[in-house]
Amino acid sequence: MTNIADMKLAELRDSLKEKKVSSLEATDAYLSRIEKAKSLNAFVIDTPDKARAMAKSADQKLAKGEGGALEGVPLGIKDLFCTEGEQTTAASHILEGFKPRYESTVTANLWRDGAVMLGKLNMDEFAMGSSNETSYFGNVINPWRRNDGGNTDLTPGGSSGGSAASVAGRLCAAATATDTGGSIRQPASLTATVGVKPTYGRCSRWGIVAFASSLDQAGPIAQDVRDSAIMLKSMAGHDPKDSTSIDCPVPDYEAVLGQSVKGLKVGVPKEYRLDGMPAEIETLWAQGIEWMKDAGCEIVDISLPLTKYALPVYYIVAPAEASSNLARYDGVKYGHRADDFNDIQSMYENTRAEGFGDEVKRRILIGTYVLSAGYYDAYYLRAQKVRKKIFDEFTDAFNKVDLILTPSTPSAAFALGEQSADPLQMYLNDIFTVTGNLAGLPGASVPAGLDKQGLPLGLQLLARPFDEETMFKGMYALEQAANFTAKPTEWWS
Ligand code: GLN
Repeated sequence: MTNIADMKLAELRDSLKEKKVSSLEATDAYLSRIEKAKSLNAFVIDTPDKARAMAKSADQKLAKGEGGALEGVPLGIKDLFCTEGEQTTAASHILEGFKPRYESTVTANLWRDGAVMLGKLNMDEFAMGSSNETSYFGNVINPWRRNDGGNTDLTPGGSSGGSAASVAGRLCAAATATDTGGSIRQPASLTATVGVKPTYGRCSRWGIVAFASSLDQAGPIAQDVRDSAIMLKSMAGHDPKDSTSIDCPVPDYEAVLGQSVKGLKVGVPKEYRLDGMPAEIETLWAQGIEWMKDAGCEIVDISLPLTKYALPVYYIVAPAEASSNLARYDGVKYGHRADDFNDIQSMYENTRAEGFGDEVKRRILIGTYVLSAGYYDAYYLRAQKVRKKIFDEFTDAFNKVDLILTPSTPSAAFALGEQSADPLQMYLNDIFTVTGNLAGLPGASVPAGLDKQGLPLGLQLLARPFDEETMFKGMYALEQAANFTAKPTEWWS
């Protein structure tokens, strides 16, 4: 019999319902894989006792023919989601020891539907990064390696590096992730997984450690499009506790998979053709355009001239919001407090100096600067105005097209350490993804091919706000055409 942990989420879900396997068996299969895959450093906390208890309770429900949409399915949870009674750190020293007394709405929705928690996944500190190298708990290693016979450790991308690596390494059936500027789609692209950032407001942000509140969205990283559709259905939904969560019904995304994309208009923005982009990415993009054409879509050349302002705008808005959100970590209420201080001021200072890593400090400094009285108008206010124009530009584009097709990332997985000394180079990783966050659009990355080094590359689809259904149809069509079957060789266990 094949290892239960090799099943896709959909297959596992069905096998559980048909009682061909039990949740406890599936959970144990994953726990043993997690144990053997310590070298990937994908999990920061394992919760085996909780996992087995949740699995047993799921098995009782399944035995009676009861249970929710994910009954008994074992998942990994990005350590940005508050989990009641289980340490939640956002991969930061400053939150070490913090055990929330509440559960994030997204994870609560997953448990409501019967899912099992295997543990908490590594990530960039406070979700700031594109390589998972800013984590206080050390970097995550991408299960994928170059085909050069060497053993260079590559990044799984970030900030949801643990989510992507654990799904690519089959350490969980699927994982939760978050995306503020690309942190679901970029790691998905670098690990040949499917990553979905839904429309801003589709998933509740309540109980997710805040980075940049007007950009943050939760979404799944999964093995294929169907699995991501199943995950999103359970994660999404209106939540009165989050005033930016939108009260509209959550469609059955799985039901639209396989529906024809004939006649859909797919936009191809010329500004996403970058100087110096690897030729293989160009080729793959052209291939993706052909696939969509073959599936009956009409390809439309579009122009999004403000694209060049997206990263500068993001690196004003995101740090501004972060500097405000992270003001709460001062050693009083949460996690770490410095031992060495002589008054309240030095307690704050020493706690924050010890507790935050360099990238987080850099963001707080930038954010405080752009919000300061003398610079607010010149930077923050201007960035907000350009953000609105970027939104308008997408609104115009979506009057002409139903979907936009682009590469997900400007490169394949790079070596650990290769970009960490140069923050600006690191920020370029999100060049194709940040616009989706600035405009609040749904976006997804689907594995589409391998480069010469044998590393995966993804293609991105963007859709109109709250039109994830059309996006899922397009994703499925891409997935069918790409027929991506490559898997990383299992060197880590
Ligand atoms: N890489 C981007 C950043 O560092 C985006 C991160 C994210 O989406 N959480 O801010």
